Amino acid sequence: MLVDVPDDETLRLLHHYLNALLLPTDRLRVTTCRRTFSAWLGRPISSSLGGAYAYRPRSDEHVVLINLDRIDRSQPRALEIVVAEELIHMRDRLDGDLRRHARHGYDRVAHRVAALTGATLAEIRSCLRPVQRRPIRYLYVCPECGRCTPRRVRGTWSCRWCAPTFDPRFVLRLAARLDSDEGDTATSDPCTS
Ligand SMILES: [Zn+2]
Repeated sequence: MLVDVPDDETLRLLHHYLNALLLPTDRLRVTTCRRTFSAWLGRPISSSLGGAYAYRPRSDEHVVLINLDRIDRSQPRALEIVVAEELIHMRDRLDGDLRRHARHGYDRVAHRVAALTGATLAEIRSCLRPVQRRPIRYLYVCPECGRCTPRRVRGTWSCRWCAPTFDPRFVLRLAARLDSDEGDTATSDPCTS
């Protein structure tokens, strides 16, 4: 087992649930770092995930992410729930059950997490921190119709009212940059629609 887990409680829970689920550890890698997990998989991983499990057939390895940044540890069982769930996915894989989640927190996996940990479904549904979205920083305006499009990041888009797919004739122009310290009130409305 390759373990990149600088957190005692996570380690203790891992060992507890590896035992409880009778899981072999010889082909297992666990990390609490999303970037490390992404590197193991060779693809980017959504930062909103509380945990993740994957099987890599090429190396016959099971890889687990416990994404501590996303877990709301003010809730006493949150970490335990995420650890148990990812290891249930590994158990399923070894048992040949390749089904994915139907609906996180509501499906058969959630009920198994509840049975295994003693947590309630309400606890299972609330173990992650709310996703923090970037504030809206930019207002773009269509040169053709004058409609306004708010954006969180800068980029190049065409107007979705004037063209169903990207069309360079209707590329949006940056009309205002919002300094959102105090609720985006600094700029006057540049939209003409
Ligand atoms: Zn337009």
